Amino acid sequence: MYKIARGKRVKKKWVVLLLALFFVSSGCGREVQTVTENRLLMDTLVSINVYALKPADESPIRRAIAAAFAEMSRLDSLFSAYRADSEVAKLNREATMAGVAITNDMDSVLQASQWAAQISGGAFDITVAPILRLWGFGTDSLGLPAPEKIAGRRAYVDYENLVITSDAANHQKSVTFRQPGMAIDLGGVAKGYVVDRGLAALQRAGIRDAMITAGGDLRTITSPLTAGRRYIWIQHPRPANPDSASGSFFGRFKLEGDAAVSTSGDYERFFINDNKRYHHIVDPHTGYPADKAISATVIAATSIQADALSTALFVLGPERGIALADSLPAVEAVIFYKKGDKLEWETTKILQEKLEVFNR
Ligand code: ADP
Ligand code: MG
Repeated sequence: MYKIARGKRVKKKWVVLLLALFFVSSGCGREVQTVTENRLLMDTLVSINVYALKPADESPIRRAIAAAFAEMSRLDSLFSAYRADSEVAKLNREATMAGVAITNDMDSVLQASQWAAQISGGAFDITVAPILRLWGFGTDSLGLPAPEKIAGRRAYVDYENLVITSDAANHQKSVTFRQPGMAIDLGGVAKGYVVDRGLAALQRAGIRDAMITAGGDLRTITSPLTAGRRYIWIQHPRPANPDSASGSFFGRFKLEGDAAVSTSGDYERFFINDNKRYHHIVDPHTGYPADKAISATVIAATSIQADALSTALFVLGPERGIALADSLPAVEAVIFYKKGDKLEWETTKILQEKLEVFNR
């Protein structure tokens, strides 16, 4: 467990998920060497772990990790909301009523965003940016906006007004915002994509057993060396005893192979006003922080899917969120919510059987 509190915009938060390696000294357990490196990227602590048979030659592993971090930091500068020279900033300046050429990376992130928006009925919507700006999440000026300001900006929010066109002749994609006042925020999806590309860079460098975590997003690949010996630990959204490792987790489940896991919670970035918690995930249909859930964890094949879906399911809440996850192949989820003062949760059917709950 670690807390980070570095730099103004870096989230001060608990690491939401922890993937533990249990190398029980059973007869067949071969000894594993873990090579770990951490960087601050995308506003959060990014950690790469590579697992190899002991004794391992660390230098090719360190080179692979360096290549993965290089790729991730290149992408961070495309998607960063805080850099004036990022690709997302350029789109927000220039794409209103005019086609702007995009990179393949931006195309991948926008396609995934539009997919998540469609299947969630707009609960996930990157065009919620003009409303997020009013709330000031990600800046130093957080506060409760005037209701009429929120109402005024709802007209700018509609993913269907973000149009991706493709010029087949030169394989170039472009983006147009069809509504003046529109802007996009990739905070709910870009980190997942960056984790996926970091993992692909590790694989290109020959790595077969590894895990990348970036705040609440995680992706892992497993070789026979560690197969069947890893667990995903799920952070308790309101831990009774946050300073003890055992008290801060809700439960765990055994990881059976490769997977991506993401969590969205109301405890990540928030402010309290008059005893009410206002957090960073906004329901695009109301303009206010979504209040049906307090956290949502999603397991999927890729991090970009898990990331977008965890934000979507958080907004949808337990009933619609779990129904959506159950309808998608290879997607599992658990959603926590409050009923009065009581903490409740819903899970997909398959996860229900796998989950070991420690702290209710
Ligand atoms: P975190 O960034 O804390 O890991 P999420 O992946 O859930 O959490 O993303 C939350 C971020 O997504 C917000 O900080 C904001 O940038 C963006 N966002 C907020 N509400 C929505 C929404 N309804 N649809 C899409 N993106 C959103
Ligand atoms: Mg997300």
